[in-house]
Amino acid sequence: MIEVQGFTKQYEGRVAVDDLTFSVQGGEIVGLVGPNGAGKTTTLRALAGIHPATAGRILIGGHDLAREPIQAKRRLALIPDEPQLFSSLTVWEHLDFTARVYGVRDWRAPGERLLTELELIDRRDSMADELSRGMRQKVAVACALLHDPAVLLLDEPLTGLDPRGIRTLYDTIRRRAAAGCAVMLSSHLLGQIEGLCTSFLVVRLGRMLFHGSRDDLRARYAAELGEAASL
Ligand code: ATP
Repeated sequence: MIEVQGFTKQYEGRVAVDDLTFSVQGGEIVGLVGPNGAGKTTTLRALAGIHPATAGRILIGGHDLAREPIQAKRRLALIPDEPQLFSSLTVWEHLDFTARVYGVRDWRAPGERLLTELELIDRRDSMADELSRGMRQKVAVACALLHDPAVLLLDEPLTGLDPRGIRTLYDTIRRRAAAGCAVMLSSHLLGQIEGLCTSFLVVRLGRMLFHGSRDDLRARYAAELGEAASL
């Protein structure tokens, strides 16, 4: 579903991401892990078509993001690390707005299911600026899922969520992956996403240090996982 070949991104001549190659199939949940400045946000934003690659090729659902951006992005959703909501809209109005933007018909029943799943149903009539950070994060997830993406990208989605919120989000992500969605999410903390992801990309200073399954990861980063520490 996602094919990345030699993705490189430079900002004003400075290399932020250097020659990443990987793929993500439908049903996979891939963890993109690395410290501050590793290039995680840059990679996710490039996959979402927000900024172009300096070099390399990105295919989403078989469509080249540079040549066929509309087709490539049609069934893709990115939840940024600091989702922006409209302070004067309620949770329900955010879903309504999203449905209009994406042309989703018959969204009300799925919207209610999503709010129930994400434990937001009691807050459906709350204004966005009355919500906590974690709740706002979950509203962004509900909006992203409303149009049933085939590719779901989440940048640091656990920031601001309490343990229950994390479990809820994990369940939601697992359900989407089980339905065939390709999921990629970033984190500083390997231990925090180790139980969720099916494979991992570890990056530092824009370079790939590791790409492999959970078993390979355990063998390579046993000490870090034991401490649930950041890399
Ligand atoms: P964090 O965990 O802190 O969010 P990250 O892994 O997401 O970090 P990026 O935000 O992708 O890392 O940044 C990777 C590199 O690219 C850093 O050196 C950063 O300074 C640089 N960078 C990111 N965005 C820009 C920009 N708009 N202009 C110039 N340099 C940038």
